[in-house]
Amino acid sequence: MSTRWGAPVVGATTRVFALLGHPVAHSLSPRMQNAALLDAGLDGVYVALETAEGEVPGLLRGLARSGGGGNVTLPHKALAATVLDAATEAVRATGACNTFWSEGGRIFGDNTDVEGFVRALEGWRGSPAGMRVLLLGAGGAARAVVRGLVDAGVDALTILNRTPSAAQALAEASGSRRVRAAADRSDVEGRDWDLVVQATRLGLHPDDALPIDLERLGSVGALFDLVYAPRATAIMRAAEVLGVPTTDGSEMLVQQGAAAFRRWWQQEPSLDVMRGALRASS
Ligand code: NAP
Repeated sequence: MSTRWGAPVVGATTRVFALLGHPVAHSLSPRMQNAALLDAGLDGVYVALETAEGEVPGLLRGLARSGGGGNVTLPHKALAATVLDAATEAVRATGACNTFWSEGGRIFGDNTDVEGFVRALEGWRGSPAGMRVLLLGAGGAARAVVRGLVDAGVDALTILNRTPSAAQALAEASGSRRVRAAADRSDVEGRDWDLVVQATRLGLHPDDALPIDLERLGSVGALFDLVYAPRATAIMRAAEVLGVPTTDGSEMLVQQGAAAFRRWWQQEPSLDVMRGALRASS
């Protein structure tokens, strides 16, 4: 977004980026991306568009071909992956696209949740190489976590999910012998974990059930909850009582947004500006 006398100016050359999803009204991405654009003095603007399934292909292609691009969120990430001319390895491995743009008339897509998760984890706990990890959940976010951890050299990854067949399918799709699915909770209880990653939908609402009873596990080195909520989630509070270090999904949100910014602008955004915009919006 270019500025003149401190005010944003959107003009004929402005590149338009949009978040496509449903619902998107509460998304923090516009605040975060516009703050980074303003800080960098770039001629772009980022908005959120409520998008029905049938509108995704046309909007995605139109935005990209007009010189802009955007992000895709629930429930359209898998559909977006089918609209691309060129997909990164992260999209192929996860079957999901959350970032799109165009180059030379072709539509490109990436899944920056993979990079976002790994960068957030590495900034907090260092490399996952050699770690034994328990992953709770087998949905879209969990797929990004599996790809990121396998690529980063995780030692052993066990997936526990409410629906065991989804965990089994994710483990098989990973193509890695270091990944396995747990049959049920008893399969992971009493074992030691360097890291537990919480990637179910539980935790957004105060009355959500706990995804697992941490006291029934052996030792737990750290808990990474992907949920981004203004307050600590119930499992984060339970971990803190046990003296287990915790982090939430905010840094992953910043890092996946920063990775998208790099794809669109071929330059580094200010992470501190993006973090500040997120904090101010919460
Ligand atoms: P999703 O594809 O819908 O997957 C949902 C997962 O949660 C599935 O494993 C599902 O299990 C499980 N689940 C849902 N309700 C449950 C319940 N009542 N009890 C136990 N398990 C339950 O969603 P997603 O895209 O993976 O997102 C998961 C979470 O990650 C969301 O809170 C999302 O906001 C967060 N996220 C954060 C970031 C970030 O940047 N911080 C990025 C992406 C996602 P079943 O298979 O049994 O249905």
